[in-house]
Amino acid sequence: MTEPANIYLDHNATTPLHPDVLEQMLPYFQEISGNPSSLHSPGQEARAGIDRARQSIARLLECDSAEEIHFTSGGTEADNWAIKGVVTHAGRRGRIVTSAVEHHAVWHSCQYLEELGYDVVYVPVNAAGMVDVDAAIEAIAGGDTLLVSIMHANNETGVIQPVAAIGSAARARGIPFHVDAVQSFGKVEVHAAALNADLISISAHKINGPKGVGALYIRNGAAIAPHSHGGSHEGGLRAGTENVPGIVGFGAAAAIRSREMANDGARLGTLRCRFEASTLNSIEGVTINGDVDNRLPNTSSLTIFGVEAEAVIIGLDLQGVAVSSGSACASGSSVPSHVLTAMGLQPRQASSSVRFSFGLGNSAEQIDRVTSILPGIVEKLRRLSAAM
Ligand code: PLP
Repeated sequence: MTEPANIYLDHNATTPLHPDVLEQMLPYFQEISGNPSSLHSPGQEARAGIDRARQSIARLLECDSAEEIHFTSGGTEADNWAIKGVVTHAGRRGRIVTSAVEHHAVWHSCQYLEELGYDVVYVPVNAAGMVDVDAAIEAIAGGDTLLVSIMHANNETGVIQPVAAIGSAARARGIPFHVDAVQSFGKVEVHAAALNADLISISAHKINGPKGVGALYIRNGAAIAPHSHGGSHEGGLRAGTENVPGIVGFGAAAAIRSREMANDGARLGTLRCRFEASTLNSIEGVTINGDVDNRLPNTSSLTIFGVEAEAVIIGLDLQGVAVSSGSACASGSSVPSHVLTAMGLQPRQASSSVRFSFGLGNSAEQIDRVTSILPGIVEKLRRLSAAM
């Protein structure tokens, strides 16, 4: 019997910590343990670590100033803050324009506000998972719009949305535009000005940084209520002693992405091509979900007809290969993905969809191992379901 493979292909759920990131974080757990708000040297050393991280992230985001970066506990918090903070600042009920394929952090925040009386418009996507720009512009113009929130890259399909065009329509009317760039930041270019964004959510653990730390970019002058009260941290907008080691790790991860993003994107794109070519060739009834020409280079969402995604995941896991059935939050629930059903997939097709997402440590040998295992698993599952 061959050894289990130990191949991790779920980098859109989370990524392993980069060893250099860990090395840069370690001193901040013990030696450099001052409170960054303290005036003394240990405090100022911790403050310097945070400042460097802020600059490193601001460089990758090409924003005007590092002060526009506000650290949070992750992408979910950044999304919640952006959405609830903008409408709180507006001080009245009005319209929120978002899309039908947002991450739960945006989607559920909008649903919550809908229950409070806000008019939320969920702009549809086409069969390739792309947000309909005309429908978005019509929705923005058709009400008392307080906020527009559209994701940059989808976490399930990797599809990159036409955010710059939608942002330009929002800006022309002076409406704040939020972009959830948690999946795209550090994988493809995410430049604040180019996206016409006022607010951008990002997260460290998607780019080989630590879990539990993220940030909200707030364009200088953008109108948003504070996240919390109780201190002057994060420009007076998010109170609480900072997660110093986590923030330092986020900065280190962003610096690595600044250096390696272009080459790494090309490498992962080649691996994905190898994976999809082999899988489509060796297994009948497999389709790629999403716009194949407009995706993150590391993401492959496949519908494998006639099998349950959960069964494929377990079959692969037994052989040491980790993949997922869409967003990490949705896996484990039997509800078909709202992203795939919004693209027109039947619930049955959506529950036959498996996401493979590539990243640090993946190699052509690993891809070949997976593509040699997968056909057997699918064949066995199809035989079992035919016999039932
Ligand atoms: N937004 C998107 C598009 C995501 O993919 C995720 C995580 O999967 C989040 C937000 C939430 O980020 P975090 O896990 O840092 O809270």
